[in-house]
Amino acid sequence: MHIGVLALQGAVTPHYAHLAALGAEFSEVRAAADLANIDGLILPGGESSAMLRMMDYYDLKNPLGEFVGQKPSWGICAGAILLAREVVSPPQFSFGAIDMRVRRNAYGSQLDSFNDEVNGYPIAFIRAPVIERVGADVKILATKNDHPIWVEQGRAMATTFHAELTPDVPSPMHQRFTEIIRTHHKT
Ligand code: GLN
Repeated sequence: MHIGVLALQGAVTPHYAHLAALGAEFSEVRAAADLANIDGLILPGGESSAMLRMMDYYDLKNPLGEFVGQKPSWGICAGAILLAREVVSPPQFSFGAIDMRVRRNAYGSQLDSFNDEVNGYPIAFIRAPVIERVGADVKILATKNDHPIWVEQGRAMATTFHAELTPDVPSPMHQRFTEIIRTHHKT
């Protein structure tokens, strides 16, 4: 299994230890050609508006849109914003792979960033978005304050938190993403 990590900006390299622990191969995606041989794509945390500008610069928007329409993708925080159907605060382009509305930077200035856990695993919310609405086809894997924070729809997965920043590898979220990739290969 070969997993690509979109490497325009943001928390890219912390994923490698998790992917290696799962026995996956991995590489960085910076150009359309880098998408050719990967089975799944991680859209990392960072700054979604900055990533969008770089996608335009590198002509990556259409190739990435095609990829997430056909193959497994996992969006983390900024990446989750990129995979949403609707983005508010402010509105911006997104790929629409998951039927959800996200509000950027929704935890407010006091709580911009904080550590937490999901099912006992340490994770971090870093200027995270809130998922305000999900469609009927979206499966919710974890919530916080009644809002989904880990969701799936078909071959796409999103977490509003970072699961890659702890030394405890592999995270349950990386594990789940490899399961989605395996399932997708069978169907
Ligand atoms: N605030 C960022 C955005 O709106 C997301 C932060 C993150 O990815 N940790 O894109």
